[in-house]
Formats: sequence, structure tokens, C-alpha cells
Amino acid sequence: MDTDQLADRIVAGDRRALARAITLVESSRADHRDQAVALIEALRAKTARQAVRIGLSGTPGVGKSTFIESFGMMLLGQGLRVAVLAVDPSSARSGGSILGDKTRMERLSREQGAFIRPSPSQSHLGGVARRTREAVALCEAAGFDVVLIETVGVGQSETVVAEMSDIFVLLLAPAGGDELQGVKRGIMEMADLILVNKADGDLKASAVRTQADYAGALRLLRKRPQDPEGFPKAICVSALQEDGLERAWDEMRALVDWRRDTGHFDARRAGQARYWFDQEVRQALLAQLETGAARARMDALAEAVADGRMTPTVAAQEMLDSLGGA
Ligand code: GDP
Repeated sequence: MDTDQLADRIVAGDRRALARAITLVESSRADHRDQAVALIEALRAKTARQAVRIGLSGTPGVGKSTFIESFGMMLLGQGLRVAVLAVDPSSARSGGSILGDKTRMERLSREQGAFIRPSPSQSHLGGVARRTREAVALCEAAGFDVVLIETVGVGQSETVVAEMSDIFVLLLAPAGGDELQGVKRGIMEMADLILVNKADGDLKASAVRTQADYAGALRLLRKRPQDPEGFPKAICVSALQEDGLERAWDEMRALVDWRRDTGHFDARRAGQARYWFDQEVRQALLAQLETGAARARMDALAEAVADGRMTPTVAAQEMLDSLGGA
């Protein structure tokens, strides 16, 4: 099947074609990469569908898979189609993905309107980021209404997910009063919506307290132009008892609608496109240093610097000149 046929099948909603396309974007083979780029270009020409891209982060055990399953089922109940992707930088190290694997979200994975894809296993977060970003584009072209991008809160993965999402949701568990310190300020500043999960049974009272603590903390943050009154917001949910999920979706939709009306939605996507362009160029330049003649030259110059034959400044200049004076 050529790229154009594959693109047509994706647009027609063929899930196997979508899965195959994602495998293509995940491949690091040079010919696959060329096909992937051509495929995404072909899809851009065929459709301008937009999904609501929701980034979801939370530490292991907070209830992400339980939430995605019940939230996803609720969205399907509203007639929406849902794709779930994951950014899991640890999957490269452990050799297996802890996010989005087949045993999680069993109900959702059986549904026709849902598509679940685990994190690609790549050695670099940059690689995972590009693949996921392209997978998001494929899911949008395939007509999914909502694309959920899940991550665990490790390293830079939250930034990566926030930079490919329209809204960023932080899932937290109920905890004692000192928990606030546990969430880094930078992560708080990224959040559009904080969901305090497990607000049920014995945990309900502490969930309500935690929610109030976070609501207070959010009010102290500097007001962002992309937020309507009352956002960012913290609310309680119970993924297990499927409680508060419609409310959570209503809040997300209200935020997205407001941002669409005010131009912030498009501005955010434009800013993200700039960001990823910049990242791609930087990563490609760094990769250049690691291969072939450039690598050998780096090593030789490093030796010269170590021996005291050259200063770091002069050696760096010589290296940069040899790269083409960029
Ligand atoms: P993940 O690691 O973030 O994906 O978390 P899981 O979805 O696997 O959930 C971790 C544990 O928390 C499981 O034992 C779930 O049953 C439990 N859990 C998830 N959501 C809720 C909830 O809303 N209420 C309660 N009480 N437990 C929950």
C-alpha cells in the first residue's frame, strides 16, 4: 500500500491502518522516516480535523489508568471517539512500557470508538516526543474527538506532554497537609485543571481538604492570559466510582471553548509548532556531533584541548567552522 492509500484509509477511520501508520512513525529506519513524513504531509492535505488534546500527568498509583478508563467510557457514552497515547521515558530503560500496555484499561480497549497505544520505546525522550507528536496528528486525521496523552511525572516528560496538549491536567491523590510541597511549582504552573482522585469512601474527607489546598495554591499563581476567570481549577473526582467525570469534562470543554473564542487555542498550537521546530533543529544538530567525521573531529579536538595544545575556545571555533559555519 502506498502512502496515499494509507492516508485515505486512516481518514476513513480504519483502525488497522492507523496502528500501522503509528508503527511507521515509531520506526527509526531512514526509509520508514521518509514514508512517515510523506504520510503526515498527505494527511495534512486531506483533512484539517482537530481533536481536543488533553495531557494527563500523575505519579504511579494515583489512578491514571483507572481514570482514563472511566473518563474514556464516559466520553464514548457521549458519542465521542477517544484515542489514548502515552509518553513514558522509562519504557526505554525497563524494556517494557508501564503506560498504556494491554492489561490496563481493559474495558476501554475493547471499545470500537477507542484506540489505545502504549509509549514507544526509544532511548531518548526526544525520540519519544517526536513519535508521540506525530501519533497525535495521525489520531486527529483519523477523526478522534479527544486524544489523551498520558505521562508519569518523571524528568522532562511533563513538559513534553504539555507542549503537545491543548489542556494539561494533573491527577493527584488525597494526602496530608504537607503534600503541597511535593508538587513542583513548575508543574503546578503548567496545570489547567487539577483533579484530586480517590474522593470516595474513607479518602473522601482528605480529598476535599487536598482539593481546597490546591485551589488556594492555584489562586496564588500569577494570572495567565490564556485562562478565563476561575482557571486553573482544582476539583475532586473518583475514577473508581465514576464520580465527577462529567464535571471534569464540562470544565475542560468550557476552557477549550473559551480559548477557541479568544484565539488562545490557536495561539497555543502555533507556539507549540514553533517549539517543536526549534527542538527538531537542536536535536538534529546535536546528533550530527555524534556521528561520522564530526565525531572523530570532536574527539581529536578534545585531545588537543586536554593536552594543552589548544584552548577550548579556539578548538570550539574550529569545530563550528568545520560544521559549515552555521
Ligand atoms: P496509575 O498507576 O496512575 O495508572 O494508577 P491505577 O489506575 O493503576 O490505580 C492505582 C490504584 O488506585 C489501584 O488499586 C486503583 O484501584 C486505585 N484507584 C484508582 N482510582 C481510584 C479511585 O477513584 N478511588 C479509589 N479508592 N481507588 C482508586
